[in-house]
Amino acid sequence: MKTPTAPSPRLASRIDKLTGSVARDILSRTQDKEIISFAGGLPDASLWRDLKLPEVPPSAFQYGPSEGERSLREILARRSKGLGLPANADTTLITSGSQQGLDLAAKLILEPGTPIILEAPSYLAAIQVFKLFQADLHSLPLDSEGICPRALDRLLNETQAPVIYLNPTFQNPSGTSYSLERRKQIAAVLDKHATLLLEDDPYRDIAYDAPPPPPIASFLQTSPWIYLASVSKTLIPGLRLGSLTCSPELFSPLLKLKQAADLHSNRPAQFIATQMLADPAVNQARIDGLCQHYRQKRDLMQTLLAAHFSGLASWEVPSGGMFFWLRFTQRIDLAQALNDTLSRGVAFMPGAPFFADPEDVGTSMRLNFSLVSPERMEEGIRILAAVVRDLHQT
Ligand code: PMP
Repeated sequence: MKTPTAPSPRLASRIDKLTGSVARDILSRTQDKEIISFAGGLPDASLWRDLKLPEVPPSAFQYGPSEGERSLREILARRSKGLGLPANADTTLITSGSQQGLDLAAKLILEPGTPIILEAPSYLAAIQVFKLFQADLHSLPLDSEGICPRALDRLLNETQAPVIYLNPTFQNPSGTSYSLERRKQIAAVLDKHATLLLEDDPYRDIAYDAPPPPPIASFLQTSPWIYLASVSKTLIPGLRLGSLTCSPELFSPLLKLKQAADLHSNRPAQFIATQMLADPAVNQARIDGLCQHYRQKRDLMQTLLAAHFSGLASWEVPSGGMFFWLRFTQRIDLAQALNDTLSRGVAFMPGAPFFADPEDVGTSMRLNFSLVSPERMEEGIRILAAVVRDLHQT
């Protein structure tokens, strides 16, 4: 008997552009606790092992405002203001992670074919969102101080892009932090072209050497801007909370997009975050402890990379954030490398998905150092280097 085949549903054309998150695919293969994973961007869970969560009042169980809880908006707006942004609670929206901020901003700005400028490499889940909205992606390479302002000026003349997406502080994946001078020069170029700046800043507080310069948005005189922050990296990622602060004229349409997306972010989570962030001194002490913990891991990874990867790759020591970015001295088959390291219990992120046009296949790798315990880091880097060395020779 013939089995009837189900008719295929007709889906929106944008679904053809929807790529799965490579990082999440690799992460799903690393759920096994035995895997030493340098692949994700995950905080160290040992930091909240003994955490006592504040009690959530039953009033938080009811539906709430789409903007988010006033008290949390005030705390996060105060932080943005302290960074030099012309922010206040009225132009601050609580989002379901900064990932939702990217989605809302993309919905606000992008139509099929809208040019958007981004860094090469760039945050892969931002690339995923921009491709979903069928934008026309244009990349500018990063050097150790950021993208080049002159190249940006040229690309803006050429593309007339209405928007640029930057992650200028301890960038994911490269770890690059833009110098103060570059930030000012880039702001001036954006003002000249009236380009909207979408600035993504989730790693700012994880600084190991010195506090980073202020956000690029704080140097803008006239251009519109959207600034995204997150509690994921310094508090608890599972709360799924972030904030979006923007030029006043953008707030109302973004709020409507938020209403259409999910009515409002998780209220019990907002109550928890409000209480945990309420006392600035307590919060700063917690962040200092976290930075101290991660700084030791960064230093250990640097020592291990110097011991095992010299001659195979080059890299810069990140002054904040969670990642090392390795550039290989010769192109290698990273799909093969990933299979080999996974079979030996180690995961990493190949560099290609961080490029809008993955011309870079086989030349770079992102390594996260926040998750893995110091004891297992050595074993992991040793295995990784052995696999890379083998493929180098073939
Ligand atoms: N932007 C960047 C650059 C990130 O690295 C991440 C997390 N990996 C996000 C946004 C999303 O973070 P959140 O947990 O706040 O949604």
